[in-house]
Amino acid sequence: MDQHKKNDNPSYSRTDTDKVVMKDEDWKRVLSPEVYYIARQKGTERPWSSKFENFKDAGTYYCAACGNALFKSDTKFDSGCGWPSFYEPISKNSVIYLPDHSLGMSRTEVECGRCKAHLGHVFEDGPPPTGLRYCINGVVLDFEKAKEAEKNYNEKKKSL
Ligand SMILES: [Zn+2]
Repeated sequence: MDQHKKNDNPSYSRTDTDKVVMKDEDWKRVLSPEVYYIARQKGTERPWSSKFENFKDAGTYYCAACGNALFKSDTKFDSGCGWPSFYEPISKNSVIYLPDHSLGMSRTEVECGRCKAHLGHVFEDGPPPTGLRYCINGVVLDFEKAKEAEKNYNEKKKSL
């Protein structure tokens, strides 16, 4: 039993790494309207509106749609761009990249590697060591403080 299971979202898990494929109507049913708008309709939250924008607690950020681990707090930095920003995802498989030519711009979209939720974009003006800036909508992030995350990670390792 995954203690983080949300409402009746059958895909939400912090331990399951299987890819999630769910119909749009099912996503609409299980996600909050805010998360659905960003994650499934590629929306963008208003800049400076995220509680995570100036948030400095140590811990792990997860996909709010499926529970996939995305970013660690020690890769978060103050970009001043109005959205939570990170310079590196937790692992290569945490996120996937897609060319995005919408709004007359050439950008790289970042999606969740597990459920393909739209997260934000990545730009090449970040700090070292990667030089990347993952500009992420806070609405699609769940945060867990370090201690609890570590405990869950160890439990996960045990069960593998
Ligand atoms: Zn996801």
